[in-house]
Amino acid sequence: MQKTNRIHWFLGTLLMMAFFLISAWNVLAAQTAGIIDNADESNVRGWALNSSDPSSAAEVKVVITNQSNGQVVAELTTTASKYREDLASNGTGNYGFEIPVPWNSYGDGTYLVEAYTGGQKLSGTRVHGVGAAAAASLQNSSSNLRSLGAFKTTAYCPCRKCSGGWGGRTSTGTIATANHTISVDPRVIPYGSRIMINGVIYTAEDCGGGVKGNHIDIFFNTHGETRAYGTKSVEVYLVQ
Ligand SMILES: [Zn+2]
Repeated sequence: MQKTNRIHWFLGTLLMMAFFLISAWNVLAAQTAGIIDNADESNVRGWALNSSDPSSAAEVKVVITNQSNGQVVAELTTTASKYREDLASNGTGNYGFEIPVPWNSYGDGTYLVEAYTGGQKLSGTRVHGVGAAAAASLQNSSSNLRSLGAFKTTAYCPCRKCSGGWGGRTSTGTIATANHTISVDPRVIPYGSRIMINGVIYTAEDCGGGVKGNHIDIFFNTHGETRAYGTKSVEVYLVQ
């Protein structure tokens, strides 16, 4: 490596560190908080508050993502300025927001609802289903989601290579079905939990020798599908 290249590399590293520190500082400086309380057939509701400036209303951006393809279908902005009695002790109490959502214009599917204020994500991520199939898999048109973080996800099928002599039978006694069954480490995800992965809501009802810790094995009907899936790191959600 030439000397000038080394100097450039060094300056570049310094610059990157400076940017990192500045952005970390901005995140710390913006004292925002808030939550999405509900997402129903017509609205997304919640509250947001910039506690370093509680007298002015926070801008809120609601981001709606189609879970089957990861595409953002809408970014809706509003001002959190509706009076909420439960927040009056924090200042003016004018921190609520309610934003209409034209769900039917997005088409049938499962949608992740997230909101941001001052560059920070509000808590209370929701999932909303449009159409009968999505509503049935959610058991409701709208549910609360809790992120469990990034998991290693792999795939398996009833073949001997994947499931030994078990075939399609799961460790909880059910018959494994595609788009429904996942194999988990029950010490991490209890049996019966409903877990959303890539927009599909699965039920934890199987385990496997190779499935330990933050790892989920997803059931498919054929070995070709398991090979096509491979291994992916995915943020997974507990459906509550
Ligand atoms: Zn297989």
